[in-house]
Amino acid sequence: MQMETGVSLKPYNSFGLPAVAQTLVRVRSDADVRQVVDHPLLGRAPKFILGGGSNLILTRDMPQTVLKVEVPGIRLVEARPDAWIVEAGAGESWQALVMWTLSQGYPGLENLALIPGSVGAAPVQNIGAYGLELQDRFESLDGVDLRTGLGVTLGPEICAFGYRDSVFKHSLAGRVLITRVRFRLPRPWRPVLGYLELERKIAETGVSDPSPLQVADWVMAIRRHKLPDPALIGNAGSFFKNPIVSPEQCRDIIDRDPDIVHYPLPDGQVKLAAGWMIDACGWKGKTVGRAGVYDKQALVLVNRGGAIGAEVMTLARAIQESVYGRFGIRLEPEPVVM
Ligand SMILES: Cc1cc2nc3c(=O)[nH]c(=O)nc-3n(C[C@H](O)[C@H](O)[C@H](O)COP(=O)(O)OP(=O)(O)OC[C@H]3O[C@@H](n4cnc5c(N)ncnc54)[C@H](O)[C@@H]3O)c2cc1C
Repeated sequence: MQMETGVSLKPYNSFGLPAVAQTLVRVRSDADVRQVVDHPLLGRAPKFILGGGSNLILTRDMPQTVLKVEVPGIRLVEARPDAWIVEAGAGESWQALVMWTLSQGYPGLENLALIPGSVGAAPVQNIGAYGLELQDRFESLDGVDLRTGLGVTLGPEICAFGYRDSVFKHSLAGRVLITRVRFRLPRPWRPVLGYLELERKIAETGVSDPSPLQVADWVMAIRRHKLPDPALIGNAGSFFKNPIVSPEQCRDIIDRDPDIVHYPLPDGQVKLAAGWMIDACGWKGKTVGRAGVYDKQALVLVNRGGAIGAEVMTLARAIQESVYGRFGIRLEPEPVVM
C-alpha cells in the first residue's frame, strides 16, 4: 500500500471538480486492503473507495481516507462449453477490459464499450448501455470487508442488481472494497441489437449480421457523437436516473404531455426519459455559474470551466425543481455526491 497526504482529487474525477483528500492510499491487492484495515490509525478512520471518479460529484474536501483502487490484471479463468469466464482486477479500466475480451475472441461486453471508469465500480451501479447491463454478464466478484479485513466472494444473488443499483449502494455501501470481478461471456455469442440506435446502424450500413467488433465500433461511434469526452469537457455521464413509474402515472403524464418519451419494462412498469423531460423544461444548453447542461444531450451536466461541486448541485436542484413542477416526478441523481 502507498499512502499520500494532501492529494488534489481534481485529476481523479471526470467532472474536474476541485477537492483535496487529507489521506489517499493506493491499494493494489487484497493484502494492501487488509494492511489498511489492520493499520492502527487508518483502520478506524472513515473511508471512501475511489475508482476512476467518473460517477462522482465532489462538493468538498475529503476528510475520509480515500482508498484509490488500483488492483491490476485481466485473464481468462475458464473456457466452459457454454461460456468464457474472464476475471479482471478492480483497478483495470473498463474500456481496457472490453477491448481485451474482444481482441482475445471472448465477446459479450461490446454493448458496454467506452463506458468510463474502473472494473471494480461497474457492479456498484450495475453499469448499462445499449440494451445490456453488467448483471447480464456477471459471474461473481471478490472483495475485502473494510471492517473485518476478511475476503468475500459474492454471486449475483447477494449483489442484488437493479437498474443502476446494487447492494453496494445499500447495505454494503462503503463496506466491501471490490478487488476482482468475474464475467460470464456466453458461447455461442449472440449480438444484442434491440436498441433503437443500433437498429438504425443496421439500416444505415446494411450489415444485419455484425461481428462483435462491429457492434463495439457502432456503440463507440454513437457514444462519441452524443456524449462529451471527459478529457475535453468535465462531466459524469447521465446526471439523473431515468425515473420508473407505474402505468397509471405514465398515462396521467401522457394526458398532459402526449410526446413524453417512455419505454414499457418487462415487469409492467414504465421508464421515462429523464433527458426528454429536462429538455422539455428548456434546460438544454443552459448555464448556471460555471456548470451547464450539455447542448447535445440534456441528461448530461458539464463543467463549463473551473466549476466547483456546489455550482453543479445548484444547477441539479434547479433542474429537479422544474421537472417536478411540470411532471410531478422527482429526478434522482445517478452519480455519488460527496
Ligand atoms: C461520459 C460518461 C459516460 C457514462 N456512460 C455511462 C453509461 O453508459 N452507463 C453507465 O452505467 N454509467 C455511465 N457512466 C458513469 C460511470 O462511467 C460508471 O458509473 C462507472 O462504473 C464508474 O466507475 P468509476 O471507476 O469511475 O467509479 P467512481 O466514480 O470512482 O465510483 C463510483 C462509486 O463506486 C464506488 N466504488 C468505486 N470502485 C469501487 C470498488 N472497487 N469497490 C467498491 N466500491 C467502489 C465508489 O465509492 C462510488 O460510490 C458514464 C460516465 C461518463 C463520465
